[in-house]
Amino acid sequence: MKILVVNAGSSSLKYQLIDSETEKAIAKGGCERIGIDGSLLKHKTAKGEVIVEKPMPDHTVAVQLVLQMLVDKDNGVISSMDEIGAVGHRVVHGGEEFKQSVVVNDEIMEKIIANTDLAPLHQPANVIGINACKAVMPNAPMVAVFDTAFHSNMPDYAFMYGIPYEDYKNLRIRRYGFHGTSHKYVSEEAAKFLGNPNAKIITCHLGNGSSISAVKAGVSVDTSMGFTPLEGVPMGTRSGDIDPAVIEYLANKKGMTVAEVLSYLNKKSGVAGVSGVSSDFRDLCAAAEEGNYRAQLALNNFCYKVKKYVGAYAAALNGADCIVFTAGIGENTVSVRKSVMEGLDYLGATIDDEKNAMKNDGSIRDISGKDSKVKVLVIPTNEELVIARETYALVK
Ligand code: AMP
Repeated sequence: MKILVVNAGSSSLKYQLIDSETEKAIAKGGCERIGIDGSLLKHKTAKGEVIVEKPMPDHTVAVQLVLQMLVDKDNGVISSMDEIGAVGHRVVHGGEEFKQSVVVNDEIMEKIIANTDLAPLHQPANVIGINACKAVMPNAPMVAVFDTAFHSNMPDYAFMYGIPYEDYKNLRIRRYGFHGTSHKYVSEEAAKFLGNPNAKIITCHLGNGSSISAVKAGVSVDTSMGFTPLEGVPMGTRSGDIDPAVIEYLANKKGMTVAEVLSYLNKKSGVAGVSGVSSDFRDLCAAAEEGNYRAQLALNNFCYKVKKYVGAYAAALNGADCIVFTAGIGENTVSVRKSVMEGLDYLGATIDDEKNAMKNDGSIRDISGKDSKVKVLVIPTNEELVIARETYALVK
């Protein structure tokens, strides 16, 4: 069966058409600047990449253009839209009720919309994405795959904040965690690699957004992102963990509203804020190499905090069998992996510098040191494949 995987953002829509038998993407691409001037569609297949500039006033038009491209006589990969068996949607927030993926019906849609309060920036785009696909493909089942679901079995003592219990119950303030599909995928791959389904695995998803998870026997028992993706390690532009008292202090000192402080912590902070150079680790590494103090500080700060989470999760798991690096930085930035792993030998975890320096060829790489008791792996993530698998499992 061919599964269309859709990841809708507020002004973008990324897609992959995946064959559930081969688990390969037959086509992938995205629409950018939806609802803004200069919208364009990038579409990539085995034949190459095409870029088409077309007005896209809303997501429904964007989905129509994607489908037209998929059946296009020159750039298409299927002969008719009926070949698409189902659509899997990335949905950011499943709240407490969605512990796994679901086929979307009216009742489910209402529940997804009810979680908008918990993710006001992302959830509306996900809802628009589902509605747009339903409008254009009324007969294909729509499946929602939640970013939070993999973390939904965290124990209460791990997800609870130290606030009055009734505010957890009434206002749903708790830690949820994100990047669930990625942590799930790489921890499953690691467990297969180890031949141990009960393994204790620490997964480090280090990308523009970063989070670390502690996984035991296939269950996420803790993760660094919380009520929102702002918690945890510093990221491209997000601050990560910060004393909440800073919010009032900043508001008073800079005359900012709460919304402005939150925007500052989400968009102006992290390694971009510390370095003043960039949110992109390639730029940061280049600047640090040229002797830029703030770029080096941002890198040191990031790696130190990732290491602290690894240590914390080794405690949470009572030891680790495996540490996994994934996502843009985790898969590609040799110096970050080296720096995170320095001083973890007390855990029995070391890496081999030569193996660590091997090029990313898209395969699983074992970078463990010769006597390392903990396997250290680099595993390319594949969130779209997880979404396609979950979708297929529900609709087949
Ligand atoms: P992601 O959000 O997973 O796409 O990760 C983006 C981050 O990965 C950016 O900070 C990039 O600088 C970093 N990165 C480092 N090397 C590479 C690479 N070869 N390809 C893509 N991203 C990279």
